[in-house]
Amino acid sequence: MITEDEFRTEALRFLSEHAKPRGAESTAWGEGSDRFGLFPEKSREEETAELEMAKAWRHTLFDAGFAWITGPEQYGGRGLPASYDRLYQSLEAGFDVPSQAPFGIGLGMVAPTILAHGTDTVKERYLRRLHRADIVGCQLFSEPGHGSDLAGLETKAERDGDEWRITGQKVWTSGAQFSDIGEIVCRTNPDAPKHKGITAFVVDMHAPGVDVRPLRQMTGGATFNEVFFTDVRVADDHRLGDVDEGWTVAITTLMNERASIGGGGAAMGGGGGSQVRRLVQLLSWLGHSDDLLLRQELAQIYVNAQVARYTSQRSQAKLRAGQLPGPEMSIGKLSLTENMRRIAAFVSHALGPRLVADTGEWGTYAWAEFILGIPGIRVAGGTDEVMRNIIGERVLGLPKEPRVDR
Ligand SMILES: Cc1cc2nc3c(=O)[nH]c(=O)nc-3n(C[C@H](O)[C@H](O)[C@H](O)COP(=O)(O)OP(=O)(O)OC[C@H]3O[C@@H](n4cnc5c(N)ncnc54)[C@H](O)[C@@H]3O)c2cc1C
Repeated sequence: MITEDEFRTEALRFLSEHAKPRGAESTAWGEGSDRFGLFPEKSREEETAELEMAKAWRHTLFDAGFAWITGPEQYGGRGLPASYDRLYQSLEAGFDVPSQAPFGIGLGMVAPTILAHGTDTVKERYLRRLHRADIVGCQLFSEPGHGSDLAGLETKAERDGDEWRITGQKVWTSGAQFSDIGEIVCRTNPDAPKHKGITAFVVDMHAPGVDVRPLRQMTGGATFNEVFFTDVRVADDHRLGDVDEGWTVAITTLMNERASIGGGGAAMGGGGGSQVRRLVQLLSWLGHSDDLLLRQELAQIYVNAQVARYTSQRSQAKLRAGQLPGPEMSIGKLSLTENMRRIAAFVSHALGPRLVADTGEWGTYAWAEFILGIPGIRVAGGTDEVMRNIIGERVLGLPKEPRVDR
């Protein structure tokens, strides 16, 4: 096996040949973009251009052997331990490469689920192409009446020989507008208890009967969609896991989802270094640097971000080691959203009316976009209340929530 030193040399050679070292970004007040939005507000043209750049980079990365460092070689991975992946990520951070955000769900959630539960046909057909970004994947779980209560889902799949026919509606499907495949969970046995009658599939998003309609969010953009299925045919070899055992499959995906949302905490605006630096500058620009209350709030934001980061690193380390993390993922996600709430309170306190009326001053009204995105993060991947239930029951040992459907 290649040593870490040899791997480092190879990776640095690749990065130097294909990307520019990250320049020293100006962190001065008033310079560069002042946007901190949580959801990208882009036109479809901008989105398409960024997607093409992201795909081109991923093709280069994959062909050089750096796109799926820990993956099994038979599906296009490099079969190296997770420490090599961490090493590569730390080296790549020094270079300016296109954002890989459009692949977050496909690679962070769908691909690991295919690897864990897919048939050989599905693994062979999709894993390499997903990791090379020849195709993009999305997650088709939530329905209009079933988000937190996912197990109550109603989209049905009926067997028809070697195929299944899917009919129903999904909602809040991030990235469906540019996805080629989706992981879908469907009701296959309406008579069984709700967790027992679900089956998961990989569905072709370009198949006849799939209708993707964008939803506009309050920040202006349209990053997610409603997706309608009318008699959509899926081959039985595209089933993930056993018939009526899709709940286990869904849990694999949701574990990966919580880990990636919590783990991205600082980067997503949960109080990471650059954001705190900007808040310090804001205080100074407003002449509030000596405000003891604001200083204390800011210190608390920074400390909480660090604690959330370490908690999420623990759960990600478990995932990488092939174990299923426990409730620490819920703690990591809740810490992230709690810190966002603190940041929103801090910014409102510091900026006052400048937060709701655009005075044209750099670095002030721009925070409104960030604050309007927070409810979305509090809901995505399991709401704050659901995270609290999990922590209450599984960490604190409190009695289970009363449920009408047990
Ligand atoms: C930005 C974003 C991206 C998303 N992307 C995707 C995606 O790609 N694919 C996908 O399938 N879904 C996606 N979702 C959907 C997301 O998973 C659901 O919104 C989420 O699970 C909550 O479900 P719901 O919206 O139906 O709210 P509900 O479940 O109806 O909840 C409404 C309110 O009731 C509370 N509540 C519900 N149950 C309980 C309980 N047992 N105890 C206490 N309080 C409770 C909730 O906390 C919430 O405040 C996305 C959502 C967002 C915001």
